[in-house]
Amino acid sequence: MSVERITMINSIVEMDGDEMARVVWRWVKERLIEPYVELKVEYYDLHLKVRDETNDEVTVRAAEAIKRWGVGVKCATITPNAERVREYNLKREWRSPNATIREILDGTIFRAPIMVKNIAPAVRFWRKPIVVARHAFGDIYSGVGIRFEEAGEAEVVFRSSSGKELRAKLPKLTGPGVLQAYYNLDKSIESFARSSFKYALINNLDVWFAAKETISKVYDARFKEVFHEVYEREFKEEFERRGLKYEYYLIDDAYSRAMRSEGGFVWATKNYDGDVLSDMVASAFSGSLAMMTSELMSPEGHYMSEAAHGTVQRHYYRYLKGEKTSTNPTAIIFAWSKALRRRGEMDGLRDLITFAEALEAATKLTIEDGMVTQDLARVCEGPVKAILTTEEFIEAVRSKLNALLPHRR
Ligand code: NAP
Ligand code: MG
Repeated sequence: MSVERITMINSIVEMDGDEMARVVWRWVKERLIEPYVELKVEYYDLHLKVRDETNDEVTVRAAEAIKRWGVGVKCATITPNAERVREYNLKREWRSPNATIREILDGTIFRAPIMVKNIAPAVRFWRKPIVVARHAFGDIYSGVGIRFEEAGEAEVVFRSSSGKELRAKLPKLTGPGVLQAYYNLDKSIESFARSSFKYALINNLDVWFAAKETISKVYDARFKEVFHEVYEREFKEEFERRGLKYEYYLIDDAYSRAMRSEGGFVWATKNYDGDVLSDMVASAFSGSLAMMTSELMSPEGHYMSEAAHGTVQRHYYRYLKGEKTSTNPTAIIFAWSKALRRRGEMDGLRDLITFAEALEAATKLTIEDGMVTQDLARVCEGPVKAILTTEEFIEAVRSKLNALLPHRR
């Protein structure tokens, strides 16, 4: 047992979740965190049943708590559909907790791959992570469309609350077809830019933003302008002092540069670009969702980390039948280590930061040693020494961790 556990000053907001992710969550916490750290958490149970009982108030309270404490860590939760409503006998289809939390914090999601030596990225030049930041507001996701059956004309009319009108006409529509209108707000673009630069500073990464302002002369041009303004006004000095760069590229140029790059940057993307790109980058890095974390950063610097994967439902049903599953806990371990590191940095706790780093190193070393869960056995190079169950994997990480932290055993 531990000689002396690390003490904390401020709490982390812990949000528990559902199914297999919840089971693994507890194992990680009890076996890899609590023996070393005297955890201070403010706990919120986001289990689907609790969300139902509290009419989802618990999610709102958890988000408010992140605003108070600054750091949260979240387990995957079920976003209910009709099937889940029956399965859990729910009052209604509650919304995605992640969407609620993101909205309350006005935050941006950053998806970061966890890289290990024996899993080569699909792009052979990539040496460092590419973190995709998706602007999850507006554009086609809240647009409107019209399908028209004959020739005609169309224009977009903006009527301001003070009664002014702005109009833009589309070219003549010569036959049946479709049209679409969508929007974004300066305030949201600004928050997105600010969160992206903040995240990059914390992680010592460059920032890329890419759009198509040569074609989209009003819409994308405004995005480019806002990024430029926020950078110049609030971040340039610090970026230059730290030797970090902010680059704007045309979106097609950015894609081709990214393939030739060695990685190591935050790629801030518009909503649709991020939707498409984040899934592609995720599989290109490691071929398993369990090797990807997801972090939420607000423009004020409020932070939440989680695994990018969901509740791993199929494994849970097997677990309930008493089977041992080989669910990969890596992203859950990293969700904790990232939250602990952020807490440590905010509170000036060197020990906590060192612990978070050791925990990540121990996890990577275990995989690099060829001791892996089922999902990685398929994608990793070099000899696989053993395919482990989740609990065996956690034990293997623990013995590596003990070797890295001899004085804390
Ligand atoms: P998922 O839970 O990520 O699982 C999809 C599949 O990916 C699994 O069946 C499994 O494949 C593999 N997988 C994911 N994580 C793994 C891990 N740690 N170790 C090994 N394999 C892993 O996604 P889903 O099945 O689409 O969604 C399940 C539930 O999660 C849904 O109710 C959804 O609402 C919720 N969800 C929550 C979040 C969140 O809270 N952030 C995110 C996404 C989904 P095999 O079965 O082939 O082994
Ligand atoms: Mg997508």
